[in-house]
Amino acid sequence: CPTPLLPLVGADVEIPLVDGRTVRHANFDGAASAPASVAVAQRVTDVLPWYASVHRGAGYASQVSTALYERAREDVGRFVGARPDDVTIITRNTTDALNLLASAVPGRVLTLDVEHHANLLPWDRSQGGHEVVRAQPTVAGTLSALQGVLAARRFALLAVTGTSNVTGESLPLAAVVDLAHRYGCRIVVDGAQLLAHRRLSLEDSGVDYVAFSGHKLYAPFGAGALVGRRDWLDHAAPHLAGGGAVRQVSSSAVQWATSPARHEGGTPNLVGVVAMAAAAAELSAVPDEELRQHEEQLHRALLDGLRALPEVDVARIWVDSAEPVGVVTFRLRETDPGLLAAFLAAEHGVSVRDGRFCAHPLLDRLGWGAGAVRASIGIGTTGDDVDRLLAGLQAWVAGDQQARYAQEDGVWVV
Ligand code: PMP
Repeated sequence: CPTPLLPLVGADVEIPLVDGRTVRHANFDGAASAPASVAVAQRVTDVLPWYASVHRGAGYASQVSTALYERAREDVGRFVGARPDDVTIITRNTTDALNLLASAVPGRVLTLDVEHHANLLPWDRSQGGHEVVRAQPTVAGTLSALQGVLAARRFALLAVTGTSNVTGESLPLAAVVDLAHRYGCRIVVDGAQLLAHRRLSLEDSGVDYVAFSGHKLYAPFGAGALVGRRDWLDHAAPHLAGGGAVRQVSSSAVQWATSPARHEGGTPNLVGVVAMAAAAAELSAVPDEELRQHEEQLHRALLDGLRALPEVDVARIWVDSAEPVGVVTFRLRETDPGLLAAFLAAEHGVSVRDGRFCAHPLLDRLGWGAGAVRASIGIGTTGDDVDRLLAGLQAWVAGDQQARYAQEDGVWVV
């Protein structure tokens, strides 16, 4: 009966049910935004007295803030095993980081049709254009489809997700890196989901860039990062032109700074970055094996329970992928996913995500264009949470619950 690996803020929060009872909130929506860890929230509180302008002057609090910000940047780089020459650019989130890279790529970009929109849509902006390869039903087939395209035409960048936000599946990263580099192509990994579940080292893996968000790593909202090779980023137009991104401005000319300052115009988000760095350090301190075991045990229990229900489909892209991480998307046939999510929240105090998960092409491919339900497991998930989710699903299957619900502005309510 696994207990939380790390204490999270709100773990004991009670929420009201429609029948008037209150129950502990069982939150399965960490893949969208994870609750903050208690230690990270404390770190944010500790830093608030030094809330001052970063990189702007010699006032005492400004100096402390600047030091905190730059130390946090180093910690964020270390979290993903940045090479000594890599640059860590602080962004708003993964979407922002991938948009920044898109404007810096000096050529064509290749990606897959199973990506989150954040790793599909920004590539439209790259000067060289982009191509989307259809993932095949097997990992080997998908790698060979990618190879076919890479062999036929030159690409500057291959953009793949570290872990699917729909199925929790991953391509074997070593093979993808090898493939890309064999064709002289760099690789960016969308680490938004991966890094909450597994480690990634740029140095050890050879991955050229990684993009990720603090709010999926148990840090409060506000910051993300792009970490990787410096050259393209130093040649790109500044992501946010303004104060802080320049060395010198005259009425007729601008001398832009190099990265990271070049892309971080405007007052930096000190609290967001400190929180992300603290979360990264806390996650890194959890032994790999412990993280894996905690998640696998709960994941197995959830899958076994789902398979015992009639008429359940669990989303998979590849028949032969390695074990997915604890991100499980499923459908109960004949059930509207939004209605099921509303039922679980209102009558069982269980929060899941419903919808199309910003991965419309993938959902369409699965034939699930009407959406599905996603339950994600993380360091705060307990055995009791999984039991509660399964009990809720069993209750749904057992009776006719639908009559009590109606749609208001597209949302199901009791
Ligand atoms: N990629 C993946 C795989 C994701 O799951 C998400 C968030 N759902 C993103 C990118 C975008 O992250 P953000 O909204 O923090 O930019």
